[in-house]
Amino acid sequence: MSIPIHVDAYSGYRLNERPQGFELDDVYYRIYAVEDQWYSPGAQFFKVRADGKRFILRYDQEHHEWTLQSAYDGAELFARCDVQVITVDPAVVRTAEKLIESCEQCHPEDAEWPFAWVLDQVTGHGGDRTDYLMTEPARCPNCRREVTEHMLVERRPQEE
Ligand SMILES: [Zn+2]
Repeated sequence: MSIPIHVDAYSGYRLNERPQGFELDDVYYRIYAVEDQWYSPGAQFFKVRADGKRFILRYDQEHHEWTLQSAYDGAELFARCDVQVITVDPAVVRTAEKLIESCEQCHPEDAEWPFAWVLDQVTGHGGDRTDYLMTEPARCPNCRREVTEHMLVERRPQEE
């Protein structure tokens, strides 16, 4: 699920290095901050703050195309796609942390579950049409580094 958009990007060393603003439904969103960015094969993702909302933008490096991947605080934009934005409060973050043993940052060999699946279990929501907005960062119990919903984790064995 994604929406093609037009993005203005600042090109430094590489093309489209940093998004500066985008247009959606005839509204121009100026990007104030890039809060996070990560790569997957062939694509670059940016978590940005624009007009008080957070969005995930995806840049397809092969086709030079931008898509709006998700809107954390912009649930209304996704009403047409039936995407549900679930706000995860600190108690839920703590509960989810207790269900994991380690993360891809400290135990890359064992981490095979997306952290979002753990959140699915705790919140009772889930599926492709759910986006999580964490009100505070989750931390790996093993290495104490921050775990985001798209990272892989190792689940703690369930007690019977
Ligand atoms: Zn870890």
